[in-house]
Amino acid sequence: MDFLVIQDLTKKFGSVVAVNKASLNVRAGELLVIIGESGCGKTTLLRLIAGLETLDSGLIFIGGAPVNDIPVGQRGVQIIFQHYALWPHMKIYDDHKYTNMTLPLRVRKWSRDKIRDYILPLAKSLQIHEDLFQRKPDTLSGGEQQRVAMGRAMVTAPRVLLMDEPLSNLDPASRIRMRAEVRSFHEKNRLTTLYVTHNVTDGIDLGDRIAVMRDGSFEQVDTVQKIRERPVNQYVADFFKPVELKFAKLRSWQSP
Ligand code: ATP
Repeated sequence: MDFLVIQDLTKKFGSVVAVNKASLNVRAGELLVIIGESGCGKTTLLRLIAGLETLDSGLIFIGGAPVNDIPVGQRGVQIIFQHYALWPHMKIYDDHKYTNMTLPLRVRKWSRDKIRDYILPLAKSLQIHEDLFQRKPDTLSGGEQQRVAMGRAMVTAPRVLLMDEPLSNLDPASRIRMRAEVRSFHEKNRLTTLYVTHNVTDGIDLGDRIAVMRDGSFEQVDTVQKIRERPVNQYVADFFKPVELKFAKLRSWQSP
C-alpha cells in the first residue's frame, strides 16, 4: 500500500525550478532512497513534504489524506538533517529537564515516569549509552550525534521519516557502520522513510527501492537490481556506472 504519495509537485525560487512536477509513491514501511546530483531538488522536495516550504502546485498525501493545508508539526513527519540539528545547549537526556531527547514529550506534558519508560528502551535500541545522557551534542562523535538525532526523531513516533544526507559528515569507516545501523533501525521499526543522498553506494546498501532524481523530477523509481539491469535511459545508466566499475574491479580481484 502506498503511504506517502506526491503528485506533480512544483516549487520555484524566482526563476529556478527546484522541483518540477515530481511524482512519487512510497509504500508503507518502505525505505526509499532518492539519489541525484547536487542541486537537483532533493532537499527542497523533503522540505515540501515536511511543510517547511510552501509549494507552488501539486498534492501530497500521507496515509491516504491530503496534507497540503496541514501545518508543520501536525503532519506526523520528522526530518533528520545533514548536520543533525541537535539543540547545542541541551544535554542528550535527563527526564527532569528539557533535553534533546525529552523536549517534545515534556512539551506534551508527559510525566517523568512515562518519559523514562518510553525513552530508555528507545535509547537502548539505538545504542545511545547512559554515559552520553548528561553530555551536550558538541562532545559527541558524529556517529553518536547521528544516533541521538534518530532517537529524537523517533520520540514523536512519526508517520513519515525524512533523512537528508545524514551520513555525509562521517569518515568512511563510520559511514559504513552507520549505514548498517540505519538499515537495521529501519528493519526494526519499518517507518515509511525517504532517504536523500548523492552517494550511489549508500542508495544501493540502504534502499528497498531507489528513485533517481534529475532537474526536479524523477527519471526512474525501481529496485536496485531492476535499475542496474534495465536503466530507463543513459542518464540513469551513467549514474550507476562508477559503482558498476567498482564491482567489476572487485570481481576481477576475486577471480584467480
Ligand atoms: P544538494 O545535494 O547539493 O544538497 P539538492 O539536490 O538537495 O542539492 P536543493 O537544495 O533542493 O538541491 O536545491 C535545488 C535548487 O533550488 C538549487 O538550484 C538551489 O540553488 C535552489 N534553491 C534551494 N533553496 C533555495 C532558496 N531558499 N532560495 C533560492 N534558491 C534555492
